[in-house]
Amino acid sequence: MAVIDQIILLQDVDNKLFEINKLLGDLPNQVQELTDQQESTTQSLADKEELLKTTSVDIQTSETLIATTQEKVDTLKDKLIDGSISNNKEYDAMMDTIDFEKNIIFEKENELLVLMETKENLSKEIDEDKAALDGIIEELNTKKESLNKKVDDVSEEKNALAKERDSIVVGIDADTLDQYAQIYEARSGVACSEILDSNCEGCGGYIPPQIVNEALAKSIVNCGTCSRFLHKSEI
Ligand SMILES: [Zn+2]
Repeated sequence: MAVIDQIILLQDVDNKLFEINKLLGDLPNQVQELTDQQESTTQSLADKEELLKTTSVDIQTSETLIATTQEKVDTLKDKLIDGSISNNKEYDAMMDTIDFEKNIIFEKENELLVLMETKENLSKEIDEDKAALDGIIEELNTKKESLNKKVDDVSEEKNALAKERDSIVVGIDADTLDQYAQIYEARSGVACSEILDSNCEGCGGYIPPQIVNEALAKSIVNCGTCSRFLHKSEI
């Protein structure tokens, strides 16, 4: 087979390979994006669960402190009326102590309110994160399944084309192959052009009769304007 015919076959195979790769499309990127999202959501969920734990411990500590302080206040109040106080000075001191302890209770109760609100918000966020994570995992699995199916569907075809490509390039010398690769890249997958009348089909450029004859003789000739490999079938 003439080299120009091999080049035309090669272009055909390369275009099919290009379409196959396009068919796989953006799926690998989408899977990667979802995997990243899954990881960051998992991490943020773990952080919030850790914070929820420490907040729960803080709540218990506050509650215990409030309860013991309240007991202290109750005991002090009992002393006010059980006759153990003998003078006004002792009475005033006792009242001061009670006020001091009551103030501690007041402050701790305020702290407790903040802690409880934090706990409630965290619980809500954790529930939301868990739901989001479920959605992401579901979407990820669907995308992965779809990708795997597509890969399976086209891999056989891709392998066959790659084999075909290997067998074609064996018949083309290295320089021509390099030239082909450059033109294929520069001309977006159209490296070959037919001569219609005396013009290049690809760019419309004029092709001199001598070149037309060489193309008819299956020699390797290129368009002087767009550099594409020229071919012309006998009429
Ligand atoms: Zn041309």
